[in-house]
Amino acid sequence: MSQEPILTIRGLQKSFGDNHVLRGIDLDVQKGDCIAILGASGSGKSTFLRCLNFMEIPSDGEVTHAGKTIGTERPGKPRAYPENELTKVRQKVGMVFQQFNLFPHKTVLGNITEGLRIVQGKDKASSEARAHEELARVGLAEKADEYPSRLSGGQKQRVAIARALALAPELMLFDEPTSALDPELVGEVLNVIRGIADEGRTMLLVTHEIGFAYHVANRVIFMADGIIQEEGPPEQVLKNPQSPRTQAFLARHK
Ligand code: ADP
Ligand code: MG
Repeated sequence: MSQEPILTIRGLQKSFGDNHVLRGIDLDVQKGDCIAILGASGSGKSTFLRCLNFMEIPSDGEVTHAGKTIGTERPGKPRAYPENELTKVRQKVGMVFQQFNLFPHKTVLGNITEGLRIVQGKDKASSEARAHEELARVGLAEKADEYPSRLSGGQKQRVAIARALALAPELMLFDEPTSALDPELVGEVLNVIRGIADEGRTMLLVTHEIGFAYHVANRVIFMADGIIQEEGPPEQVLKNPQSPRTQAFLARHK
């Protein structure tokens, strides 16, 4: 018996004014999937991820989280997305950005407890206990009281990952988490992400690290022109791509 997908995306579209960025994306995400998303700059990868936690409101299409379809169908019109439904979904989806987005005026611990206290209403002691747990997981137990400005880029990104994981998301979205890092710091962040994937967490990861995608992802997606051009296991998409667009992209990213 096949499991119900934890996320189903049907006909997802997003336009910014005349710029029709996403033109109909269909995807089923199974629990435990680690899906690497590849595509040229400007192909809509970030917009796609942001539509999945409704940081961007889709222009149309169906997004179903854990069996619940978000948005109201309006015959002949694009779907509407009521705010109360979006808030619930946002709490179940963790996101890590290229630029870390830590609060500079809060300590590492404060960055992690903020969401636990405000979003989840946890008290100080249990938020801090949870934060310490996640910091230990990303190897930064001793940095709890530091401010972000005193951390390396790799450490900042590990804090951002701990912050997202502390909220126990059902789905993690990583948007080029290593693209802003000096090359020598990429490995430590990829190792943390690999650990999370090995735990069986469900994640979508936009990356240009083709080798990492090959070894860690169980599925790879190539996006261009606002649609998924090619999708499959890494051995297929990365070693034997069928679409000329994927072939050209991979030739440029050797
Ligand atoms: P990628 O992450 O693949 O580089 P993006 O999703 O960031 O691509 O961008 C896809 C297209 O959408 C680009 O043309 C970009 O300029 C446009 N875009 C993205 N976000 C916005 C926004 N908030 N407002 C207007 N245009 C946007
Ligand atoms: Mg992007």
